[in-house]
Formats: sequence, C-alpha cells, structure tokens
Amino acid sequence: MWIDTHCHLDFIYENKTKDESLFDNSLLDFVICPSANHKSFNILKKLNQKNNSIVYALGYHPLYLSDLPENPIQYLENEIQNSHPIAVGEIGLDFYLGNEEKEIQKIIFHQQLELANKYNLPVILHVRSAIDDVLKILKDFPDIKGIAHAFNGSLQQAQQFINMGFKLGFGGAMTYSRAKKINRLALELPIDSIVLETDAPDMKPAWVNATSQNHPNEIRGIAEFFAQLRNISVIDLSWQLKNNIADIFPDLGISS
Ligand SMILES: [Zn+2]
Repeated sequence: MWIDTHCHLDFIYENKTKDESLFDNSLLDFVICPSANHKSFNILKKLNQKNNSIVYALGYHPLYLSDLPENPIQYLENEIQNSHPIAVGEIGLDFYLGNEEKEIQKIIFHQQLELANKYNLPVILHVRSAIDDVLKILKDFPDIKGIAHAFNGSLQQAQQFINMGFKLGFGGAMTYSRAKKINRLALELPIDSIVLETDAPDMKPAWVNATSQNHPNEIRGIAEFFAQLRNISVIDLSWQLKNNIADIFPDLGISS
C-alpha cells in the first residue's frame, strides 16, 4: 500500500485544469491533500468525488490568512460537519520571513486546534521557523495527534512531537545530497514516527528535472530512497508506513 500523506492537488488543478493525468494516482492507494484556504475546500471535494483515493483535510494555512472568509472558524466548523474531512489542515505557524502577523497566526492556529479537538480529528501541521511556538501551543491539546509535515527541526524537537503522538513528514527535500540535516533525521528517528510525502507540486525530489512537475506518484521513488537510507526492504517499509498512517488517520479505514 502506498500513500502520499501531503500534496496540493488543488494548486495543480487551479493552474493546469487541462492535464487530467495529474490526477491519475493509479500507483497510489490514497493521496492526502490538505487545503490552503477556503477556496481549496470546494476544489478538493470535487477531486474526491471524481477519484475517491484523493482524500482531504480542511483548514487555513498560516501563509494564506489574508484570504479568510467571514467568520472563518464558524465557516470551517460548518465544513467539518458537512463534508467530513479526514483531518484539520494544513494549519500551523510560519515565521520564516520575520514580518508575519505572529499573533494572528497563533490565534487562528489555536482556534483550529480547538475544532480538531472538538471533532476528534487529527491535524496536518505546517511549521516553519516556529517549532518551539507550535510545541508550546500543542501542550494545550494533549489528545490531538497528527503530522508535522516537512519536518526540519532538531532531534530533540522531533522527540517532543513524537512524545505528543505526532509523526514527522519527510519528502523530496531529503533526496538532495546537500540536505545533511534532514538526512540525519530521516536516518535516526524511530521508523514508527515517520511518514512520507511529496508536497507536490512543491519540493521536487532530486531526480525530477527543472521542467517537469512533481507528482504524488513520486512517493514510490521517495520510498525507495528512504528504504535505502534505512537499509530496509521497500516491502517492509510499505508495511511500516501503512501502520504509521493508520495510527494518525483512523478514518482512512486501513488499520490492520
Ligand atoms: Zn503543504
């Protein structure tokens, strides 16, 4: 079983509606698509109707908060009630540029965690230059599990996520020889704490050239890379990843 735990088919769909091959995920069992903002919600629901291996999370990404609907939390709660996402996401904090509205990001993040808690849903986290802030806020929600996507922190920070019931997402970034830090994390973290993702159309793996597009099917190559790094067989890895994903997303119905 192969699952891409993080990609943005809504972005691809918006920009390239003609190329239907992008939504051919026949190599995969599931493609998990978190939303960026409320405009993604309808696109993702439509994609799920066309192809039920495309499943979605609903939420407001920290970099898209200038584009919220009116009463954003009520809006999201209605969507959660009506369209049953498998998670709340992608939510989190991004302080990378240094000029962000940090307090607004924290408020919206906290409110979305409250919804995840209320509806007993996992979360898909976007965390950039804000790991300690995110960990601090998560302490208010001991029952919430999820994925810290594109993880790029320290071993010690990773351990804190793991202790809180989170998995850490790794993808194309680890396939570059210069990515020493991410490589070390991917090598040293407990295998039951890891999930793989493409983040398509972003974060191309090293073998996808500049003119080609990243695609959820690249998860197979990323898995082969990771299996080699950890010196395990691809079959064993597939089994392990399935269990890791089932642990976070019970609504996928894949637990053994
Ligand atoms: Zn994302």
